[in-house]
Amino acid sequence: MKNTNQVFDNVLDLVGNTPLIKLNRIVSNFKGDFYAKVESFNPGHSSKDRTALYIIEQAEKKGILKPGDTIIETTSGNTGFSIAMVSIIKGYECILAVSSKSSPDKIDMLRTMGAKVYVCPAHVPADDPRSYYEVAKRIHKEKPGSIYINQYFNELNIDAHYDSTGPEIWKQTEGKITHLVACSGTGGTISGTARYLKEQNPNIKVIGVDAFGSVIKKYHETREFDEKEIYPYRIEGLGKNLIPGATDFDIIDDFVKVTDEESAHTARELARTEGLFSGYTSGAAMQAIKQLDERGEFKKGDKIVVIFPDHGSRYMSKVYSDKWMQDQGFFDSKNEVAVENIQYVK
Ligand code: PMP
Repeated sequence: MKNTNQVFDNVLDLVGNTPLIKLNRIVSNFKGDFYAKVESFNPGHSSKDRTALYIIEQAEKKGILKPGDTIIETTSGNTGFSIAMVSIIKGYECILAVSSKSSPDKIDMLRTMGAKVYVCPAHVPADDPRSYYEVAKRIHKEKPGSIYINQYFNELNIDAHYDSTGPEIWKQTEGKITHLVACSGTGGTISGTARYLKEQNPNIKVIGVDAFGSVIKKYHETREFDEKEIYPYRIEGLGKNLIPGATDFDIIDDFVKVTDEESAHTARELARTEGLFSGYTSGAAMQAIKQLDERGEFKKGDKIVVIFPDHGSRYMSKVYSDKWMQDQGFFDSKNEVAVENIQYVK
């Protein structure tokens, strides 16, 4: 058992220094040793705690933010939660402009964390004054002393992981890491972590995980933005329909695409085999490892680190709901059964 006699000043002292946990049963037939960087151990339960804290502290250092000022972002996801958490502790107002597609649960969670939430119509173009991008920009313009995090285009998002995730993995593997496998959404996690690791050892292979329905992999290969690659998919937080400025495409060696269905089943398998209750994109990253092993990417002695971005509790009405899985048709084609562990005592 972990010894936690240490007392912390506030939750922000617990951001980062997440554990690296060896994977055992789910990789028992694979070549190489596999380790998961489990980001749900951050106090806000995701890797976005690092980004939020880093960007806000950089703004403080530059004198852009003083207590009582406002932090603005456009997300109902993990980043919104992390910014809200940091804002509470540091005494900032947090304003999040979110899409009306966001679930009521997510909006309630952000409000509970003290954020002021603007719910903006989902089906308007990005340049419509009612879109969440435009609403965020307008509030930012109108409020002196405010910052707009803009995670998809903020280079500091890369620096946050260069500063923490990269060095942690290097130390935890005693410099023996051979491969990094990580999801790419904004690209901040993979780019910053890879930049640090490749500075230590340029031979480390960096593989990004992308979704079918996203333009990222094709852009990496051709530097062409191909609209034909874009179609709806279920996994949240991975892939994109635009080219994020916070992705360093040159530092990433390769991308693997994963399906909604296989990623969902693999997320559930991670819980059953490793006791790791992780988010949908963790399932996606693990699914990528399976595909990479199948194509012979790894050999005996390799040390592969995979980043698991967030916690399973945020997906109770999705991947971990049998009804949702059924509604998506995810139990139709696979020989996968629902979790039937309920006994009703009458
Ligand atoms: N998984 C989840 C659940 C996320 O919220 C994000 C962030 N969009 C990612 C993966 C990808 O991380 P990054 O934005 O740093 O590429």
